[in-house]
Amino acid sequence: MSDSNEQLNVLVVGAGAAGLAAARRLQSLGHHVEIFEARDDVGGQVVTFDVGGEPLECFYHHLFTNDVTAVRFFEELGLGDRLQWYEPLNAHFVKDHAYPFTTPLDLLRFDAVPFIGRIRLGLSSLWLRRKSDWTPYEDITAREYLIRAVGKEAFDAFWGPLLKGKFSDYSDDIGMAWLQWKIRLRFGSRGGRFGLKEILGYPNGSFRPIYERLANDIRSNGGKIYLNERVESVVTENNCVKGISSGGNFYPADRVLLTTPNPVTKRLVPVLPSEYVEVLDRVQYQWASCLVLALDRPLTEYYWLSIADSLPFVACVEHTNLVPKERYDGNHIVYLSNYVPPGHPLLEMDAGEALKNFESGIRRLNPEFDISWVRDAWLFSDPAGQPVITTNYSNSIPSIETGVSGLTLANTTQIYPEDRGQNYSFRLGERAAEVIDERN
Ligand SMILES: Cc1cc2nc3c(=O)[nH]c(=O)nc-3n(C[C@H](O)[C@H](O)[C@H](O)COP(=O)(O)OP(=O)(O)OC[C@H]3O[C@@H](n4cnc5c(N)ncnc54)[C@H](O)[C@@H]3O)c2cc1C
Repeated sequence: MSDSNEQLNVLVVGAGAAGLAAARRLQSLGHHVEIFEARDDVGGQVVTFDVGGEPLECFYHHLFTNDVTAVRFFEELGLGDRLQWYEPLNAHFVKDHAYPFTTPLDLLRFDAVPFIGRIRLGLSSLWLRRKSDWTPYEDITAREYLIRAVGKEAFDAFWGPLLKGKFSDYSDDIGMAWLQWKIRLRFGSRGGRFGLKEILGYPNGSFRPIYERLANDIRSNGGKIYLNERVESVVTENNCVKGISSGGNFYPADRVLLTTPNPVTKRLVPVLPSEYVEVLDRVQYQWASCLVLALDRPLTEYYWLSIADSLPFVACVEHTNLVPKERYDGNHIVYLSNYVPPGHPLLEMDAGEALKNFESGIRRLNPEFDISWVRDAWLFSDPAGQPVITTNYSNSIPSIETGVSGLTLANTTQIYPEDRGQNYSFRLGERAAEVIDERN
């Protein structure tokens, strides 16, 4: 608690990375917390299910070496020895060919574009990686900047499909600041000989233990976590938070922290000031969709295969090319990932239909693929999978304080210029807790 402050009763909506990190920090500042989570478990987008007796994320997850807040959480929660670092094999699939992209030198062999295009791709990436100030890239789209930097042919073979894959119809509007910072951070997660190889982290036993440990610590410090509790509204009086309503019950509060996506936030708080709603409305989301396959043999040799070809998915993430398949009772785990706008037909499919839809695409990655290799399949989706980061995105970031006294917000639309990730959600949750404490 800051000087002269009283202990607050803070209700947190959402038990994902942001909500749990905020609750932990609030407790360390001397406040009482209660968390309300709509699902039956903690973890939010890092939700897991069981494969061969081992938890596995419904959506692929790994850490970069510069995810320092996440690494600190592992250490502080006594799980530091679980976090393992791997050198994955990555590739870029274009013109029916998987081009390895494990070290920058692989670029020289990327003959999907003429040699001069490769040189321009390499030099511009090196240049962008070294820039420690992203602000000069705020008002230009990634498309415009990159076509100028690498030429149309190289853009169409490399960056264009990657942007399209993540942002589909919005891809032409994506701000260069977001991409420049992503390049900087991604290139920063390197090691091996000469520091050329990408290094990615994944914990033994999945990410689930870190969320369980957070939840258990919060409970042992006197906090409460209500699962299966979908909050219906934030109760206010004279523009001041009074509590929340959930399951027909009223829970009084001194402060409320929402970690919900913007559209949910608006629904929960009809009295939000119109200027704040206007900012919330500036950000669109892409749904995330992952078809997860358990195969009886490997599909490819790569961990991360970006698809820059006309396949019905935009990335093939073969998890068991990063961590051993023995953890999953010998199953080879493959995520076939998409980011799609609301209303996309994929969102209406079940796993069997999606697999049927993807089958010929999977065969283009491995012509021998046969449906009999599939032991099991699951399809997961999340409506707030990826905020769309357009030019001048700084103007689209809602502030932590909402304009309703005592009501704060921490969600992935506030993460910028970094790409959304657990690291930044933990950091944001802690920051929101500090804002609540400072304004006390
Ligand atoms: C496909 C995909 C891949 C990703 N890959 C990575 C990766 O490789 N590495 C990485 O670090 N990060 C990755 N991320 C990002 C990471 O998962 C998120 O940044 C992080 O989990 C977001 O945490 P959050 O707490 O902000 O939101 P969420 O996890 O969405 O938590 C919000 C919580 O609020 C709850 N909620 C919503 N409405 C209500 C309500 N009315 N009442 C009660 N509860 C409610 C939800 O159920 C949810 O649990 C990925 C995300 C996706 C979608």
